[in-house]
Amino acid sequence: TGIQELLLSRIRDVADYPEPGVMFKDITPLLADPAAFTALTDTLSEIATNTGATKVVGLEARGFILGAPVALRAGLGFIPVRKAGKLPGATLRQAYDLEYGSAEIEVHAEDLAAGDRVLIVDDVLATGGTAEAAIHLIQRAGAEVSGLAVLMELGFLQGRARLTPALDGAPLEAL
Ligand code: 5GP
Repeated sequence: TGIQELLLSRIRDVADYPEPGVMFKDITPLLADPAAFTALTDTLSEIATNTGATKVVGLEARGFILGAPVALRAGLGFIPVRKAGKLPGATLRQAYDLEYGSAEIEVHAEDLAAGDRVLIVDDVLATGGTAEAAIHLIQRAGAEVSGLAVLMELGFLQGRARLTPALDGAPLEAL
């Protein structure tokens, strides 16, 4: 569609970043273009509404940039899922494996409750490790995942297949 072409035209491929052999998808040209940024956040907010979300979770850090306007546009609250050690209150914490080593993400426990339906927003789905950990975090808080919405899915890394069990039928939308 026209929106997809607009969005794709505002994503920059950066070779060998952050390490040799990796083609990084840089979304800063899209953020700098108000027409593209608006088209993106409008489309993501429709997904929030269509999946019956009651809250929007954004994944640090680019998921914050996208998730906050999506939440406001959909009339929902925004909740940050942060790298461990950044949130001041009582948190739930979830570990996940990286290519080398592991990482942990956290959410404020009081921000999610039973009965919440959460749309997770991020810029890029790669291996799916980050999103999988976020899904588990939300479920451990007693809430339900209404869906996962990303700007872009790197299909060759097969994150979608990895996430299928955790999503348990909730939609994965990649624009
Ligand atoms: P995953 O956990 O799926 O392997 O990696 C996804 C996370 O890493 C997302 O939070 C995403 O922001 C970041 N990421 C991985 N590769 C890229 C990329 O090529 N471009 C951007 N913008 N983010 C990426």
